[in-house]
Amino acid sequence: MATTNVQTFTTGEVAKHNTKDDCWVIIDGKVYDVTDFIEMHPAGAQIILDLGGQDVTDQFLAFHRMSVFDKYAPQLFKGLVRGATSTFESKEKRSTQLSRVPYAEPSYWQGFKSPYYNESHTNFRLAVRRFIAKEIDDAEIDTYVKSGDAPEKDLFLKMGRAGILAANLGPGKHLLEYKGPLPSGIKAKDFDYFHEMILHDEFYRIGAPGLSDGLACGLIIGLPPVIKFGSKELQKRIVPQCLSGEKRICLAITEPQAGSDVANVQCRAVKSPCGKYYTVTGTKKWITNGCQSDYFSCAVRTGKKGLKGVSLLLIERGEGVTTKKIPTGYSSCAGTSLVIFENVRVPVANLLGPENGGFKCIMHNFNHERWYISVVCCSCARRSLEEAVKWCEQRRAFGGRLMKQPVIRARLAELIAQLEASQAFLEHVTYQMQNLNYEDQNRILGGPIGLLKMQAAKMNQFVQDECVQLMGGRGLTQNGMGQVVWRYRSASQFNGILGGSNEVLSDFAVRMLDRAYPRTSKL
Ligand SMILES: Cc1cc2nc3c(=O)[nH]c(=O)nc-3n(C[C@H](O)[C@H](O)[C@H](O)COP(=O)(O)OP(=O)(O)OC[C@H]3O[C@@H](n4cnc5c(N)ncnc54)[C@H](O)[C@@H]3O)c2cc1C
Repeated sequence: MATTNVQTFTTGEVAKHNTKDDCWVIIDGKVYDVTDFIEMHPAGAQIILDLGGQDVTDQFLAFHRMSVFDKYAPQLFKGLVRGATSTFESKEKRSTQLSRVPYAEPSYWQGFKSPYYNESHTNFRLAVRRFIAKEIDDAEIDTYVKSGDAPEKDLFLKMGRAGILAANLGPGKHLLEYKGPLPSGIKAKDFDYFHEMILHDEFYRIGAPGLSDGLACGLIIGLPPVIKFGSKELQKRIVPQCLSGEKRICLAITEPQAGSDVANVQCRAVKSPCGKYYTVTGTKKWITNGCQSDYFSCAVRTGKKGLKGVSLLLIERGEGVTTKKIPTGYSSCAGTSLVIFENVRVPVANLLGPENGGFKCIMHNFNHERWYISVVCCSCARRSLEEAVKWCEQRRAFGGRLMKQPVIRARLAELIAQLEASQAFLEHVTYQMQNLNYEDQNRILGGPIGLLKMQAAKMNQFVQDECVQLMGGRGLTQNGMGQVVWRYRSASQFNGILGGSNEVLSDFAVRMLDRAYPRTSKL
């Protein structure tokens, strides 16, 4: 809002405008003419009329998010209060700069030292944050969450042009071959897993986990099998389309009858007598981005019962492929779907990895997926923590700020400690991904990644539950002050189930321990 050549008023002058036909208020040192707004006020006209002509900054902050101010302030602005100063941060500053709320950013971005990050990580984080603020502002996020629509293609194309889709897949061969720019101008050779971690962190802190999944999840877990196990021809055709935002892809493993028990998938792929194509029949369930996808990296049964009869196959949308949305706890813009294949012809050339050797490929892919889900957990928990801290600072009860209550502070301390512990574990594992060679990662990192995901998922669920408690009724309400916490909490249990449930991963990690145990070692 430009403040040159604007009218100024004394508080006495403002006070005279206190009737239904002429009502002004002061918020943060600025004067607003709310006469035409009174009847539109969701909580009724009287509450504003009672405060007409007064400074209502505290009352406004007690009941509204800053996005409400962003929406209405420009159109209702009348002038400045003479001699008053404004303290609200601008929308641009809030959405593009690092938060100064303690613990609202990973510690490196709050002045602490870290062996993992350097200036390139800060530049990258800020570039991604600016992209998000420009292309998907709070109002658009709200619209998506409420409509449940898939993110528009135009947004994917912008993400593609900015290099965000390519960066979503982390460092590696695909990025070195990628010719486009990356956010902040970082070179592919300098891009590491910490940059990738920052990218996921930025996209999941937007306050709408369903939309975040709608924008990225399918690509992040669905394209790596093509890059890692697809033929050169397949890669050449599919990868650029997905990284430009032209086409979308998802990972389709789970079936109604095979969830944690991946080796039991039943979706059949029967090879033709000529040996050139498979005919695929079966149903996949809870496939994130399924509705909006053109390609499905799909687990199919090509052989005998059990894990040695499973293959990975890239199935293209076409005749015989149907997708239907499955409503879940978060916004349908995630595109969680039932995917039905009925006699779909798929070229044998679309195999990802060897026939009947798909189980190993799926397991290989799980490491990165589980790490990514751990990043998501820390990001979602941190954003809710920021919301809850702001609320505890702002909310007044029993004559003071909530933050004055020892019980509230104890609650916050517990959830901060858990979040920071998970973040440290995450950064440690990320460093191993960056520095261990491929064989060593396969040998020793699967167990720790499983434990990390289990720990981060439990931490996130705990933090979200606590944040709802701190927000009170607002944390259980879809709109208003608690809406962000409500959205994160609604999705917080997902991460302990998908990509390997807590039970399955804890068991897996300890089986790895048992396998590595030196049998000569005795008490
Ligand atoms: C929102 C959402 C998005 C998803 N996105 C995708 C996707 O994009 N692609 C995809 O392929 N799948 C996806 N899934 C499916 C997800 O991976 C499965 O839900 C998950 O693998 C668990 O399978 P299940 O739900 O059938 O539960 P089940 O396997 O039936 O498990 C039920 C319960 O039993 C426990 N359990 C199972 N086996 C054991 C065991 N051996 N020991 C101890 N406890 C056990 C589990 O931990 C769980 O608590 C998604 C699911 C959801 C909810």
